[in-house]
Amino acid sequence: MKNLMVLVKNRKYFYDLENLLEIFVLKSHLSFTDDEAVYHECLLKGDYGLIVDKFDCDEFMNIADGEPYTFMDLESEIRLRFEMQTGNHNEFIELKTIKAHFKRKMKRALYELMVKYYEPMSKWGILVGIRPVKIVHELMDQGYSTSEIRIQLSELYLITDEKIDLLLEIAQKERPYLFPVENDKISIYICIPFCPTRCLYCSFPSNSLEKKAKLVPLYLDKLLEEIKVTFELIHKKNQIIDCIYIGGGTPTSLDSTQMALLLETIQNATDLSLVKEFTVEAGRPDTIDETKLRVLKKYGVDRICINPQTMNDKTLKLIGRNHVVSDIQKVMQLAKTIGFRSINMDLIMGLPEEDIELARHTIKETLKLDPENITIHTLAVKRASRLNESLENFELSHDHTVETMMHESESALRGSGYTPYYMYRQKKMIGHLENVGYAKRGYESLYNMRIMEERHTIMALGAGAVSKICFPEENRFERVANFKGVEDYITRFEEVLAKKY
Ligand code: SF4
Repeated sequence: MKNLMVLVKNRKYFYDLENLLEIFVLKSHLSFTDDEAVYHECLLKGDYGLIVDKFDCDEFMNIADGEPYTFMDLESEIRLRFEMQTGNHNEFIELKTIKAHFKRKMKRALYELMVKYYEPMSKWGILVGIRPVKIVHELMDQGYSTSEIRIQLSELYLITDEKIDLLLEIAQKERPYLFPVENDKISIYICIPFCPTRCLYCSFPSNSLEKKAKLVPLYLDKLLEEIKVTFELIHKKNQIIDCIYIGGGTPTSLDSTQMALLLETIQNATDLSLVKEFTVEAGRPDTIDETKLRVLKKYGVDRICINPQTMNDKTLKLIGRNHVVSDIQKVMQLAKTIGFRSINMDLIMGLPEEDIELARHTIKETLKLDPENITIHTLAVKRASRLNESLENFELSHDHTVETMMHESESALRGSGYTPYYMYRQKKMIGHLENVGYAKRGYESLYNMRIMEERHTIMALGAGAVSKICFPEENRFERVANFKGVEDYITRFEEVLAKKY
């Protein structure tokens, strides 16, 4: 692959540019500069070059100052220019559009230029966002037929047929659960940001119990107060809590007494008979025992997640989990005996040192356990993860291998009666792939669909939690974030509460 040096003369849309260019050029072959000398030096070495001209409103004044850029921005109109330079060959695209469509058209113009020089590594066209199904819902809301949506996804966003099929299938599955939007219904997310140890690939604000166990009671104390205050405010507005999700971290890092206290507080603060789905991410088998599962059951939790990630002991050790496959199997049997309405299992394709054979084994062993939901993730190498910091120590699968793993898991799951019902993408996923949630018919998770499609208010409580308050009549939502750090959440709790009013 040829190196690409990008001369960026305006960083306003840098994030979008970088994401789009990474569809074509591996990070290791992609560099950015605002120094023309550095840029020309790379061209002399034989690298490809891309010049991104200025293109925002303020910069228009600079052109009047004599800067030599082919750029013009009139109030409602933006023009920009991408110039590709490869040896003796120069080629440019100039784009003229209104501001409302600017980002999509900018990405499309750049895509069309890049595709002449590099093979795209993504089947998602110009889409780099996390929630592609949202676009389908918006088009459906505007009254477009399935075939018209198909054309738009293909022509405007350059998405491949395979991914369009997935988007349409999921949107159709979600619609009866999401629409019409009921403004008086609220979901609750409660974060327990502690885990026994930190997984290799984790970038969440999780706090290992090894280091921060003494903070758990202090944290819980504040969290219970936040629950009481928030639930009371919700009820004062005559809103109904109909979905609760306790996630993290690993909520079952709490001991059974602490868990009972948390669930009892929730039970006392709202009418659980109105709650359609009550999930606790039990997450890691090393945090689950019979007493804790019985506590969950007693307080009305009807959906739990037991997340193997892989069914290979060697990989479990490598990714820093304190358990083995037989622990997963034992805990699953226990949960089934106690009886939860729905059990989800998360898996990750593309974990370090895993090949297709091992992925197949994981799928086969998971299907034997017969959970109601299986969520298949693609490994994402997140900046804040230990994996990213020590990448040279691990062998990661090739993009095509992980894609094959995803295809194989899809056909195995479909063959066993599971269909996709929600999906999302993350930055830095291997092969620009996706995460797909599968469910047996009737076991689709309401919370997972709501969090992805952002048409419904989710009040989020605890450290690192971000509430999304939806205003459906204005087609927008507002985010309200709590402090990320557990220490800040505890010591500045008055500020957390102040945001509630
Ligand atoms: S269990 Fe989840 S939140 Fe906890 S360390 Fe592992 S990946 Fe991170």
